[in-house]
Amino acid sequence: MAFEVTPLPYEDTALAPAVSAETLSFHHGKHHKAYVDKTNAAIEGTDHADKSLEEVISAARGNDQGLFNNSAQSWNHGFYWNSMAEKGGEPTDELKTMIDDSFGSVDELKSQLQDRGAGHFASGWVWLAEKGGKLTIEETHDGDTLADQDGVNPLLVIDLWEHAYYLDHQNSRPAYLKAVTSDKLNWSFASENLTRGSTWSYTS
Ligand code: MN
Repeated sequence: MAFEVTPLPYEDTALAPAVSAETLSFHHGKHHKAYVDKTNAAIEGTDHADKSLEEVISAARGNDQGLFNNSAQSWNHGFYWNSMAEKGGEPTDELKTMIDDSFGSVDELKSQLQDRGAGHFASGWVWLAEKGGKLTIEETHDGDTLADQDGVNPLLVIDLWEHAYYLDHQNSRPAYLKAVTSDKLNWSFASENLTRGSTWSYTS
């Protein structure tokens, strides 16, 4: 069954000025769609056609770089749209406790996400994840993903590719990261992922 482009869980103006409607029209409407279309074209009529997206990613990893890139990028973007919200709120309950234990404070976590994201060389993704009962910041390069990796549960992700921020912040990745982390991170999505204790499913 063909995969679909994850619908945006908010109006296309909801994230501005951190992420504008114009950016979303290209990023969601063109970039994400292209990854999904290429994934669907590659698996049609093959043994992968009835697999979940997570299973496709896992099967392609190390075996088919083109399919891996497109399937992992499809997943990462679906997770990314859900990682942001118009009113991101604040971490609560178990998530807040674990952030304080692992980073000292929410502000310190935001600062570390900004630093790690800004320092990441070239394209990739910066993640908040749960690993071994602690929260960690992870980075993946290019289209790589945490979707199929054992022992790590992704809670939030931020896209570090230039197409995520160039129209709004030109070449200033730090300005984009500061804007997104200040009040657009979807902490209730992070809590849902933490409470579930297993990796989010693309088709959920
Ligand atoms: Mn992207």
